[in-house]
Formats: sequence, C-alpha cells, structure tokens
Amino acid sequence: MSADAETTFDVVILGGGSGGYACAFRAAELGLRVALVEKGKLGGTCLHVGCIPTKALLHAAEVADTAREGERFGVKSTFESVDMSGVNAYKDGVIARLYKGLQGLAKAHQIEVQGKAEAGANEDQKSDERNSNDTHEQDLRRSWCDATRVRRPIL
Ligand SMILES: Cc1cc2nc3c(=O)[nH]c(=O)nc-3n(C[C@H](O)[C@H](O)[C@H](O)COP(=O)(O)OP(=O)(O)OC[C@H]3O[C@@H](n4cnc5c(N)ncnc54)[C@H](O)[C@@H]3O)c2cc1C
Repeated sequence: MSADAETTFDVVILGGGSGGYACAFRAAELGLRVALVEKGKLGGTCLHVGCIPTKALLHAAEVADTAREGERFGVKSTFESVDMSGVNAYKDGVIARLYKGLQGLAKAHQIEVQGKAEAGANEDQKSDERNSNDTHEQDLRRSWCDATRVRRPIL
C-alpha cells in the first residue's frame, strides 16, 4: 500500500468511546476506510471509567447484600466482609475482557486506531484562515491529525 493510501481515509472519527467506535464499526461495515483517533484507550469513558466499572462494583455490592440477606430467601449464608482488592480485581477483569473484545472488533473491521488529535500547530494561521471564510469542514480536516487525510470528510 502506498504511503498516501495508508494515510488517506474516507472517515476520521475523533474519540474511541461508545459513540466513536459504534460509528467506526458501522462506517467500516458500509465499506468505508476508517481511522479512529483516540488519545487514551479504545472504549472511552463507558468501558474504562464509567458504565462498566460502576456496574461491576454494583454487582459486587449486590452479591454482598445477597449473602447478608440470605435468610430472607431461605438460604443460610453469612456475610463476613468485602475484600476491596478482590472486588477491584473482578472489576478490572471485566474491563480487560471487554477491552480485548473491542480491540478484536476494531481489528476485524480493519479500523486504524491512531493517537491524539490536536489543533493545528499554527494557531495564527488557522485563525487567519477562519477569518477568510474557511469552512468548518476544511478546518476539521486540517486539525484532526497531521498524518491523516480524509478523502471525503463526513463527520
Ligand atoms: C461513572 C459513570 C457511569 C456511567 N454509567 C452509564 C450507564 O450506566 N449507562 C449509560 O448509558 N451511560 C453511562 N455513563 C455515560 C457514558 O459513559 C457516556 O455517555 C459515554 O461514554 C459517551 O460516549 P462518547 O463516545 O460520547 O464519549 P467518551 O466515551 O468519553 O469517549 C470520548 C473519547 O475521546 C477521546 N478523546 C477526547 N479528546 C481527544 C483528542 N483530542 N484526541 C484523541 N482522542 C480524544 C477520549 O480519550 C475518549 O476515549 C456513565 C458515565 C460515567 C462517568
């Protein structure tokens, strides 16, 4: 593949969170060449610090409650204590499993996951160009990723 083909995409998506990767997978399914610009980890807030870890912690709390209240259900159980390192290991395991799955999906969809998107290096030049009726589309195309070119900016 030529250097140009390697760095030219139909769609470049900023952010590999639930919004970004869902969009990337769909675009790839539609036959577009997709780059996903993610400065942290694929999966974003939901997978790494939001929905998934909180639900794993909640589940552990429910298990503790169930053990404590076994008698209510006719189950003889005793609750001793919560081992937070064990709870965190469970939570981290859930995240790691889903993260691995997501990375596999990105690979299967041939989606290139790239690093951080930064505003253009020359802010003065950018603002001059903005003042001369630069379109939003052109501005995005320039600022997303130095090494990435977009054939047909869509998002
Ligand atoms: C504690 C908590 C619990 C939650 N629980 C739920 C729940 O139960 N159910 C629910 O529906 N929602 C929940 N949410 C909300 C959910 O996490 C968000 O709605 C969802 O993550 C938004 O997805 P997103 O793709 O828009 O953004 P994000 O997931 O935040 O993804 C944005 C991504 O963009 C990347 N990024 C940002 N700037 C750049 C840059 N310049 N260059 C490269 N990459 C960049 C970030 O690293 C990040 O990965 C919860 C949120 C939190 C904080």
